[in-house]
Amino acid sequence: MMDLHEIEEKIRNCTNCPLHKTRTNAVPGEGPINANIMLVGEAPGRFEDIQGRPFVGAAGKLLTKILSEVGINRDEVYITNIVKCRPPNNRDPTDEEIAKCSPYLDLQITIIKPKLIIALGRHSGKYLIEKFGGKFGKISAIHGKLFHFSTLFGSFYLMATYHPAAAIYNKSLYSSIVEDISNAIREIQL
Ligand code: URA
Repeated sequence: MMDLHEIEEKIRNCTNCPLHKTRTNAVPGEGPINANIMLVGEAPGRFEDIQGRPFVGAAGKLLTKILSEVGINRDEVYITNIVKCRPPNNRDPTDEEIAKCSPYLDLQITIIKPKLIIALGRHSGKYLIEKFGGKFGKISAIHGKLFHFSTLFGSFYLMATYHPAAAIYNKSLYSSIVEDISNAIREIQL
C-alpha cells in the first residue's frame, strides 16, 4: 500500500483527466497523517492552484476562522478536496472529473482513517454520503446530520455542511457551519 506522501506525489504528477492541462499546481491536501478530522471541499480555486495548497483563498480564510471558533487548530486536521486540480474559471467539477479523481480521496481516507469526515458543500457531501451507502438529499436538508459508517478499514462518522464560500456573504450560513461542526465534535467527543 502506498503511503500518504506517495499519494500526494502521484496527485502532483497526475494526468488522468484534462484538468491537468490548465492547472498551475495540483492540490493534494495537507495535514497530519494521524488527523482525527478530515475536511473535504470541492476543488481548488485560483489561489489554491497558484500555491498548491487547499483552502488558502477567501473561503479558506473563513474556514480557518470557523475552525478556530469551534476550538480546532487548522494544523490538526487534514484538508483536501474531491477534485485535486482547479476547474477553469472555478466551474463545478464534472461527474467524469469526480469519477477520475475520487480514487485519490478514497486512498487518503483509507490511510488517514479519520474519526470524523466533514464534507464541505453539496458536491463533496453527495459523493461521500452516497459512496458509503447513505442517502443524499439537499444540502439544506442534510447539513449537520451525523452518519456513522463501518468499512473494511474501520468505522467513522461523516457529516456534511455548507461550503465556506457560500458563507462569505451570508451570516446565517456561517452560523450553521459553526453549529454543525461544533455539534458533531461534541457528540463524538473529539
Ligand atoms: N474551495 C474548495 O472547495 N476547495 C479549496 O481548496 C478552495 C476553495
